Amino acid sequence: MKGNVKRGQLVVISGPSGSGKSTVIKEVYRQRSGLHFSVSYTTRPPRPGEENGVHYHFISRERFEELIGQGMFLEYAQYQGNYYGTGRDVVEDMLAKGQDVLLDIEVQGAASVRKLFPEATLIFMIPPSFAELARRLRGRNSEDETVIQGRLARAREEYKQIPMYDYLVINDKIDDAASEVLAILKAQDCRVSARIDFIKEDISL
Ligand code: 5GP
Repeated sequence: MKGNVKRGQLVVISGPSGSGKSTVIKEVYRQRSGLHFSVSYTTRPPRPGEENGVHYHFISRERFEELIGQGMFLEYAQYQGNYYGTGRDVVEDMLAKGQDVLLDIEVQGAASVRKLFPEATLIFMIPPSFAELARRLRGRNSEDETVIQGRLARAREEYKQIPMYDYLVINDKIDDAASEVLAILKAQDCRVSARIDFIKEDISL
C-alpha cells in the first residue's frame, strides 16, 4: 500500500489463570511476524524464571502510583492485591508505526481498552470446561486448595464478562487454539475498514 502507514491493530487476550493463555500466545508469536507484545508493569513480585523487562516491568507500589499520577498508563487495574498496567507510550508508538500490539490483560483492563479503542479486537480464552480448569489449577501442585478455590471463584466472575469480548477461543489443544487466534487476526486484516485505503488509491477514489 502506498501513502500513509496503516495503523496497527490492537488485540487483547484475557482468560482465567489456567486457560493456557501464555502458552498459546507464545505459539501465536512464533507464527505471526510484526506482532508486538506489550510488557506490562506490575507490583507483584517476580515468579521463578521471570525476568524484569521481559515478562513484566517489576516496580514498587509507590513507583506505580507515581506513574498513575503522571498519566503513564493506557489502562491499569488491581488484581489480587497488586497493580497491573499497560504503558501508554510504547503501545501508541507501535500502533502509529503500523505494528500490531497484543495485550495480555484481565477483564477490567479489557473494558478500559474497549472504551479507548472501540476498534480493538478482544479475545477471551477458556479451557474446554470448568472441571478442566480446576484440574489444570490443581495439576500445578504449587498452590494450596484455598488459593485454587479463590482462582476458581475469580474465574467464574471473569466468565460473566465474556459478552463484552468479540471472540471466544476454547483452548483444548494449544495448536488448535493458536490457529484460531491467528485466524481471528487474519480476518481482522481483511476487514474493509483496514483495506479501504488500498481501494481508494488503486482506483483514485
Ligand atoms: P499474573 O500475575 O498471573 O502474571 O497475571 C494476573 C492477571 O493480570 C492476568 O489475568 C493478566 O492477564 C493480567 N495482567 C497482566 N498485565 C496486565 C496489565 O497491564 N493490565 C491489566 N489490566 N491486567 C494485566
